[in-house]
This record gives sequence, C-alpha cells and structure tokens, in this order.
Amino acid sequence: GSAQIGVSGLAVMGRNLARNFARQGYTVAVHNRTESRTKALVEEFGAEGEFIAAHTPQDLVTALERPRRVMIMVKAGAPTDAVIEEFAPLLEPGDMIIDGGNAHFLDTRRREKALREQGVHFVGAGVSGGEEGALNGPSIMPGGSAESYESLGPMLEKISAKAGDGSPCVTHIGTDGAGHFVKMVHNGIEYADMQLIGEAYQLLRDIGGRSPAEIAEIFRSWNTGRLDSYLIEITAEVLAHTDAATGAPFVDVVLDQAEQKGTGRWTVQIALDLGVPVSGIAEAVFARSLSGHADLRSAAEGLAGPRPTPLPKAEADAFAAKVEQALYASKIVSYTQGFHEMAAGAAEYDWHLDLGAISSIWRAGCIIRAAFLDRIRAAYDAKPDLPLLLADPGFAREIAAAQGDWRDVVATASLQGVPIPGFSAALAYYDALRSPRLPAALTQAQRDFFGAHTYRRTDREGSFHTLWSADRTETDA
Ligand code: NDP
Repeated sequence: GSAQIGVSGLAVMGRNLARNFARQGYTVAVHNRTESRTKALVEEFGAEGEFIAAHTPQDLVTALERPRRVMIMVKAGAPTDAVIEEFAPLLEPGDMIIDGGNAHFLDTRRREKALREQGVHFVGAGVSGGEEGALNGPSIMPGGSAESYESLGPMLEKISAKAGDGSPCVTHIGTDGAGHFVKMVHNGIEYADMQLIGEAYQLLRDIGGRSPAEIAEIFRSWNTGRLDSYLIEITAEVLAHTDAATGAPFVDVVLDQAEQKGTGRWTVQIALDLGVPVSGIAEAVFARSLSGHADLRSAAEGLAGPRPTPLPKAEADAFAAKVEQALYASKIVSYTQGFHEMAAGAAEYDWHLDLGAISSIWRAGCIIRAAFLDRIRAAYDAKPDLPLLLADPGFAREIAAAQGDWRDVVATASLQGVPIPGFSAALAYYDALRSPRLPAALTQAQRDFFGAHTYRRTDREGSFHTLWSADRTETDA
C-alpha cells in the first residue's frame, strides 16, 4: 500500500482529521462502517489531497504502507472495542492503532496491554479542539510507546496546531493511557474555566447591573490582558449575540440547564481515587448537575434569602475590576488542582509527565488555549518539580495582589445570595493550604473517639489511642 495513514470512523472528527492529513500532503486511506460517509468525504473533499476509499477494514489495511498506522475515530466505549477487534487480526507486529476518541484512560491501558502482546502499538491520543481544530490544527495528546511516537510523531506534528512561537501542539505524553489521562484533565480544567467565567458573568449582571452586551465589552477588554483566551473570546461573542426570533439577548433565551458528556466527571472520579483535592473542577461538574435538576430547583422556589441589588452605576466599574481579580486568582487555583492531578497520576501509573511540555501543547488548538499557559510553562521551566503551581513565585505574587478583591467578591456574592461555588471553593482551597492549623486535628480526635482509628501527635512520633470510654489515658497504638 501507499497510504501513510488510515482513518476509520468518518463522522465530524474523523472526516476532518482525514482532510487535515491529506491537506498536509499525506495519502490517507479512509473507511467508515456505513459506507455512504466514505463516499461523501471523497466526493466533497477529494480535491484537497490524496484519499483512498476503503470498503472494508481489510481494504484499509491493504492500502497502508508499513508500519501501518490506523487511526480510529469512533464513538468511545464499546464501539471502539468493536472496531479494534476488527482491525487487530489484520495487523502485524510493528503496526499501530491510534485511538483519537475520548476514551477513558483505563480502557486505553487495557487495550494497549492486550495489543502489546500481539506486537501492535496502541496509541491512545487525546484530541482537543472540536470539529474546527480537527480540520485546521488540534492539540494532540498521544500516549503509547516511545517507539510508536518516533514514526507517528512527525505526522501528528504536521497536522497539529502551532503555538505563537511556531512549535507544534503535540508531544509524546507518556506510555499507555497517559495521553487520554491528560486529555481528561484538560477537559476537567475546561469545565472549571467555563464555570468561573459563568460566575463572573452572573456577578457582573446581578451585582454589577450590566447588560449582556455591556458584559461582552468587559470580556473583550479582559481578553486583551492576562485572561486572554479562547473561552473568554467566545464568551464575549455569545454575550453580544441577539436572538433573531425574539430580539432578546441570546443568553436569555437559552434554557439554563447545562449538559455534560463525562470527561469532567471522570476527572473528579479519578481525583477522588488518587486522593487529589480538585474542588474547583468538582464544583464545576456539580454546578452543571445542579442546573439540570429542574425538580429540585422548583422545590426550592420561594426559599428565604436575599436577591442581589445592582450597585450604583458609579461603583460598577470598580466592581468589574474586582471580579477580574477574583476570576484570575480562581483560575490559578483550578489549574493548580488539575496539574496536581497529573502529577499524582504520573506517580500512580508510572508515567514521566513533563508538566511544562503539557502546558505548552495546550497553548493552541484546544479549548483551554490561553496566554496563561505560557506562564505555567515558565513556572515549570523554573522548577520542574514544583509541588504546588500557585506557589510559583510569579503566581504567588499575583494571588497576593488579587486576594483582597477576591475576598471582597466572594463576601459580596454571599451577602447578596449569588451562588459562586467556583470562586468560593478556590478561595477555600487557597486558605486551607496556607492555614497553620486545620480542624483535621479535631476530625482525627473524633475518629479516635468513635472508632479507635488512632491519631498522631504534634510533639512525638508514633500512633496513639485514647481510652475514651474508660479513664481517658493515652495508649500507644
Ligand atoms: P461520534 O462520537 O458521533 O461517532 C460516530 C462514528 O462512530 C461514526 O463514524 C460511526 O459509524 C462510528 N461508530 C459508532 N459505533 C460503531 C460501531 N459499533 N462500529 C463501527 N463504527 C461505529 O463521532 P465524532 O466524530 O463526534 O467523535 C469521534 C470520537 O472523537 C469520539 O470518541 C468523540 O468522543 C471524540 N471527540 C469528539 C470531539 C467533538 O468535538 N465532537 C472532540 C474530541 C474528541 P457510522 O457512520 O457507521 O454510524
């Protein structure tokens, strides 16, 4: 065969990735379970490059040069297993299957192990950037063997997004499921970013007294500063948009019940397993979930509490500046939590994750792309084993400068009854970490009281138990 890559699964993502490879000069063999999609691709976009339409998995494999590279872009879960099972028997040692879908990294680990026994490389690759990114340059997070990256990496570098300095937004993340793990955390951080932006909007509207169009202008101005990012940019676009049918601000005609596909939830589930406090990401997932509980929300209608009163016009600009500080400080916290989860995942699964390199490949192509990621990169360049991102001297200084306003915003929102779970969870995380003493001491004492779970002391080594129901003397445990 003469094709350098095959793509099986030609819905939006697969079709656009196939076109991206072809536009970069690769010969691309294309296949889809339902053949009409294959035909449509070649008919509509055949002029963009060299495509070979394959009727069957065998045809696709036959069309490929060796080592064969088969990228599958189908629904995550059982469909991915079904497609792997179709291709695996057709492949030889040294060939590779690349799964660009949103697989759970534990599935990727399982699949990689099974295919490794057959000598086939399985590369779980996180792909971010949606439909548009897949066509014009996504951020790509490939796992799998280092050997597979030698042959596949240069191709992925060609189709990937390029950061401002021209570097490709792809790097070998780590072995087996590392790529899908990192993509999962990317999505968790994306949830947190979106929640924080949503809270900022709500504050500017209900307390700042601004209209959606005015808030769009505020976001536009923020987008020229340290918050410069894709999500802030599209937020301004959305808020400036007017609904054609009603003439109302578009945001006011959208039902306020958010949905989710699962990667944010996975980020939190895995964080719980790893013992990593990702409270900001968790609040973002819970906020979507709460919004969807129409039954609970209607049961809560009429419960006591304040309604926000908009500030006088003269104070609204100063308030917007405070919200910017609170948003930025909270963003530092949610990235700190996400990067902690990656460090913990690396330790648990024996990956060597280069956190600086990961922040670099998120600078373009993906949903959380932002100027901010250059700062994270710089923090890890300065100290590759930085244990706590927000303790980087640069970030610590910015939080120090922001915290007065951050506290003010959280307090004001609380007094006025505006829910800001993201901002307040971020602040609680920050304050808990810097507290000299935590009530965890009391928790330990309670646990020892009811369950003889023992405690450690501040003044000497060892584990101890107090005989709570006897004479309350202390014993060595
Ligand atoms: P979908 O997730 O909607 O999946 C549709 C594709 O899967 C079709 O090609 C379909 O074939 C194929 N398929 C489903 N079941 C089977 C099966 N049992 N056997 C063979 N083929 C099957 O497509 P998307 O393009 O939206 O996404 C592809 C992957 O990329 C998913 O894992 C998704 O999570 C991930 N992803 C999506 C993003 C997005 O923005 N949409 C962004 C990043 C990742 P047929 O035409 O025959 O039905």
